[in-house]
Amino acid sequence: MDHAASIYVAGHGGLVGAAILRALQDRGYPHLLTHRHATLDLTNQAAVNGFFATERPEYVFLAAAKVGGIHANDNYPADFIRDNLLIQTNVIDAAYRHGVKKLLFLGSSCIYPRHAPQPIPEEALLSGPLEPTNEWYAVAKIAGIKMCQAYRRQHGFSAIALMPTNLYGPGDNFHPTHSHVVPALMRRFHEAKEADLPEVVVWGTGQPLREFLHVDDLAEAACFLMECYDEERIINIGTGDELPIRVLATQVAEAVGYQGSIRFDATKPDGIPRKLVDTSRLLAMGWRPRIGLREGLASTYRWFLEHQEKFRR
Ligand code: GDP
Repeated sequence: MDHAASIYVAGHGGLVGAAILRALQDRGYPHLLTHRHATLDLTNQAAVNGFFATERPEYVFLAAAKVGGIHANDNYPADFIRDNLLIQTNVIDAAYRHGVKKLLFLGSSCIYPRHAPQPIPEEALLSGPLEPTNEWYAVAKIAGIKMCQAYRRQHGFSAIALMPTNLYGPGDNFHPTHSHVVPALMRRFHEAKEADLPEVVVWGTGQPLREFLHVDDLAEAACFLMECYDEERIINIGTGDELPIRVLATQVAEAVGYQGSIRFDATKPDGIPRKLVDTSRLLAMGWRPRIGLREGLASTYRWFLEHQEKFRR
């Protein structure tokens, strides 16, 4: 990407888009295009085409998506499949039609089958049934990957796709029930500390294993790949380290300074038992994650404290 290029970050209000925008600003790109949801609805094809015709971006980071944790995915299947299919179809097609030089599509490690080998290689895509709690979102993301590959094959469009493991960091959604596990627990422990509650409830058995990548590491990798990768094969990104939710809960409690006890509610879903991505392809290109989980949880909690006013109900 030359420095004069205009770069559109779709979804800059979200966790990933905001981090990509920060990374691009740090790298000194002056022509960054963004658009608020209120003024451009990415599920509206005519509006998206109009935006591309007027603004003519040269590079696109497609980080706009309807996302949510295990509860939201499970309870709003229609919203998750519809919004994601529309957003990605509109943006990828408009990008191709309006001469975008390259597009990076953000997928997710939940696209892989429930019984994929661990760590999960990119080749596991479409090799078995999906985890039911997030299959609607996963099916939409798989369609997005296939769309990137199809437009590359048929039209020679430079579309690449990056599959992150579970993400967290500043700018996350801290909704009490619809968020992912890190922000959900951070808020719950914080509120329990403030109210001096003796116990905090964590969903599921505590046994599922998850890998957590700080969103600033993801953003660095997204810029790195936009600059130096241009192939059809999807690329995983993670840290290589996994831990049980039980241990994560203790680390979040420590980051927050909550000293009460933790109770697991096994009536809530665990989701997939294990989800560790094989990052060897990206590591072979020279990329490395930089932010460890303890450090990342501490800085995310600092961000939460600075912004907590807006999370108050
Ligand atoms: P997943 O990786 O797609 O399952 O995404 P989540 O971040 O929603 O959940 C990860 C794991 O954390 C699952 O096993 C959840 O059951 C568990 N978990 C424990 N407490 C919570 C909570 O308060 N919110 C969420 N979202 N997950 C929780």
